[in-house]
Amino acid sequence: MHSVKKNLSVGLLLIFAGTLTVSCKKKHDDAVTPATATVAVPKVYSKIYGAQSMTNDGTYLTIKTQGLPDHKSAYYVSTNPLYQSFSGTTFGGNTFSKNPNTIATQSLTFKIPVNPTVASTHAATALGPIGVALNGVPLYNQYAGPNNQVLSGEIASFDQYYGHPQQSGQYHYHVEPLYLTTVVSTKSGLMGFLLDGFPVYGPQEESGATVVSSDLDVYHGHTHATTDYPAGIYHYHFTADAPYMNGNGYYGTAGTVSQ
Ligand SMILES: [Zn+2]
Ligand SMILES: [Zn+2]
Repeated sequence: MHSVKKNLSVGLLLIFAGTLTVSCKKKHDDAVTPATATVAVPKVYSKIYGAQSMTNDGTYLTIKTQGLPDHKSAYYVSTNPLYQSFSGTTFGGNTFSKNPNTIATQSLTFKIPVNPTVASTHAATALGPIGVALNGVPLYNQYAGPNNQVLSGEIASFDQYYGHPQQSGQYHYHVEPLYLTTVVSTKSGLMGFLLDGFPVYGPQEESGATVVSSDLDVYHGHTHATTDYPAGIYHYHFTADAPYMNGNGYYGTAGTVSQ
């Protein structure tokens, strides 16, 4: 029977693996989880309510989302229940000017470090997703494609909740996600995470003080305690002034995103 042969092969493989790992057996016995197992997702991440799935391998948290906003938008097709026309003033006092794109379902996988660490060299952020908001919508940096043009030309196309889709229909926020800061949470609440695992907060501190870019370092963050992190943590803030959410790259060592 083929299963006998298979079992024999597996057995030999185990013996071989056992030989390799014998020197660090004690360590393996102490470890709670082999690399393939999942461990509990820390509670703070349960705030990412837009995730389709979330798993923790002990090193990286893997978050899968469809990237669809859970709020009304002028960029949904008109037959979508979440479609709502919009005209008027958007972010920064700009008069809304719709871009030609329409929101489309995405397949995004964010892998972010569960224990974020400061990077010795602060990698630049790329165009495209650099983080994930609580509702599963990707966060983008302060530049517009394709050549890192300043964002100012795009701001007028932000919808009623300050997001917009790019050419392939991927909806995203470059600035304060208004639905999260006014409906889901507050101006001082946790808004999401960048790929380096450090959290992103709204444009106010819990004290109610408005945060401006000059309060922050060049990566657009600083360190202090928050309700979610009583021991203190480095965090980014959305601000009304440029660069809006992230400055000169990631503060920490970034994970990855695939789409
Ligand atoms: Zn954009
Ligand atoms: Zn802060």
